[in-house]
Amino acid sequence: MSSLRLFVAVLPPEPAVQELRRAVSALHALPGADRLRWTAVPNWHFTLAFLGNVDEELLPELHTRLARAARRTEPFPLRLHGAGRFGGRALWTGAAGALDTLRLLAERADAAARRSGVPMDEHRRYSPHLTLARSRTETDLRPFAEALGGFEGTSWQVGEVALVRSNLPVSGVSGERPRYEVHASWALGR
Ligand code: ATP
Ligand code: MG
Repeated sequence: MSSLRLFVAVLPPEPAVQELRRAVSALHALPGADRLRWTAVPNWHFTLAFLGNVDEELLPELHTRLARAARRTEPFPLRLHGAGRFGGRALWTGAAGALDTLRLLAERADAAARRSGVPMDEHRRYSPHLTLARSRTETDLRPFAEALGGFEGTSWQVGEVALVRSNLPVSGVSGERPRYEVHASWALGR
């Protein structure tokens, strides 16, 4: 049976992406920056729920349930905010604004997937982040997090939620396809 690797996400609008891009470009000049794997700008997103490989036959039910989750959640303000790290492995920017609504939407997306038959991992407490760089080895990411710590983006109104397909890179093949593709998206609220 064929399956798709999927996650549910909030995608920042282009002006927010460009503000972040300018702030992050300053980090590329710091010592050790070239040893990090920087995420591609067009791929930037806030993951709400990671579904992993989903059998195609679950998609109709999943779409119906995600549409309902979106409808039940009113649009809300969000902005990119500060920086943080997961140990020495991942550098991210965070979010500020209506984080309670963002968290609610993440819980609704998780429930929608679970009830559609997607075996979801037990979730740890949702921690909103947009991953900027990863390291294969333990690396001191503090200088990067400190340099970006004061970053504040302009607030926008989150108006939709996206179901995104992730195409894992095929080794030895340089990708013609985009790494992520929006598979479907739904407007928030009524
Ligand atoms: P790569 O794994 O090749 O570095 P990636 O992490 O960007 O690339 P995916 O692994 O498909 O691509 O992940 C898509 C999104 O889901 C990313 O935001 C990732 O952090 C998140 N994610 C991946 N695996 C999990 C997981 N097990 N639990 C929670 N979130 C996950
Ligand atoms: Mg991954």
